[in-house]
Amino acid sequence: DGKWARAIEIVKEMEEKCATPIGKLKQVADAMLVEMHAGLASEGGSKLKMLISYVDNLPTGDENGLFYALDLGGTNFRVLRVKLGGKDGRLVNQEFAEVPIPPNLMTGTSNALFDYIAAELAKFVAQEGEELQSPPGKMRELGFTFSFPVIQTSIASGTLVRWTKGFSIDDTVGQDVVVQLTKAMERQGVHMHVSALVNDTVGTLAGGKYFNKDVIAAVILGTGTNAAYVECAQAIPKWHGALPESGEMVINMEWGNFRSSHLPLTDYDLALDVESLNPGEQIFEKIISGMYLGEIVRRVLLNMAEEAAFFGDILPSKLKIPFILRTPDMSAMHHDTSSDLEVVGSKLKDILEIYNTSLKTRKVVVELCNIVATRGARLAAAGILGILKKMGKDTVKEGDKQSTVIALDGGLYEHYSEYSKCMENTLNELLGEEVSKTIEIVHSNDGSGIGAALLAASHSRYR
Ligand code: ADP
Ligand code: MG
Repeated sequence: DGKWARAIEIVKEMEEKCATPIGKLKQVADAMLVEMHAGLASEGGSKLKMLISYVDNLPTGDENGLFYALDLGGTNFRVLRVKLGGKDGRLVNQEFAEVPIPPNLMTGTSNALFDYIAAELAKFVAQEGEELQSPPGKMRELGFTFSFPVIQTSIASGTLVRWTKGFSIDDTVGQDVVVQLTKAMERQGVHMHVSALVNDTVGTLAGGKYFNKDVIAAVILGTGTNAAYVECAQAIPKWHGALPESGEMVINMEWGNFRSSHLPLTDYDLALDVESLNPGEQIFEKIISGMYLGEIVRRVLLNMAEEAAFFGDILPSKLKIPFILRTPDMSAMHHDTSSDLEVVGSKLKDILEIYNTSLKTRKVVVELCNIVATRGARLAAAGILGILKKMGKDTVKEGDKQSTVIALDGGLYEHYSEYSKCMENTLNELLGEEVSKTIEIVHSNDGSGIGAALLAASHSRYR
């Protein structure tokens, strides 16, 4: 009937607006490249902050001793303790704990958030067993992975530019997050020295490099999204300090804030942005990362329900609740291989209280998930192409045995296999057969925590 036809039309419109043909992706990659240059040229020269990480040496394998890491991402934070045994021993042992961040702390006060983190860290330290014990008399050292935009002033200090990913705590902005953490640790009676402050992308790059020397960049696809890579120090005009001995500097791109007229944005994306905690910011992140994909699908479904009675004459009220449809649920529906799309049926029922959906309806829901995930995955691939271009790795040089590895991590990449498969296929498509043979993507599982511990080791005050 007419209503069904209108619903299908809405999906088709979405598909057209979200289209990412190869030509468009190449334009996006080129735009990314231009912004990378601009962000490196001057502070504030681009939406891409291209932050200097103060990491000018990646792990060598010589790191030695017991180190802690604390990883504050978006939804959870992890505490980690690793024992490093130098060249021969390598990663001798590791233990970790994962703790969810209570949502009320994401929009409360700085002290409340950091006190909570320090208290959880204190519990973890108290469980230090015989295997992984700190030598007596030596202060414990910590690598702090903090996955939000920070302007660093040294390897172990930096001020928060702004919160992202649903965090909004005004009194932290402009503060040194290492000072905030250190003070909270003092209040909680934890005696630790923060030896390195790193973004999760930088941590993942360091962790990736430790296990595979060909790793040159890292990309996070989790609650949010970001990337880091190794840049030539001379190619950073805004860097006025002494050139590092290594001649290199890791750059935290903060690519989540990328935006370009080439990005395929729909009215749903614009509305999501306007109603978000950070309107106008993190546009790339808002169309490719885990925090938002399910929410985009919800918005389209709501429009279909309102305009075309897609779920019947009564509007399902749950469908009006922002962020009720999470990306893990979207991916569960997308991955449903049962003949009657049972998972789709039960997700619609359990989350949205939409009962007795027909197979036809469920198929349309899966199609919509596919449209939204495909756009995100293909744009992520275009971003990676931008980095490869900047590094001159998008072509093969005559007689050069090139091997380039990119470390990937994040819950979205790890669990949404339709998304990760699509991203990898698209990257190969963009690079062509010959070049794609020289580029490898590896999953760096929890590399950011280990990477932060490794960087704490190489910047240890006891070195
Ligand atoms: P963070 O980015 O907060 O550091 P993670 O890397 O663990 O944390 O990513 C968590 C995010 O990954 C979730 O917010 C969610 O968007 C996404 N995610 C987790 N599980 C799945 C899944 N099964 N399918 C799709 N996305 C998932
Ligand atoms: Mg993370």
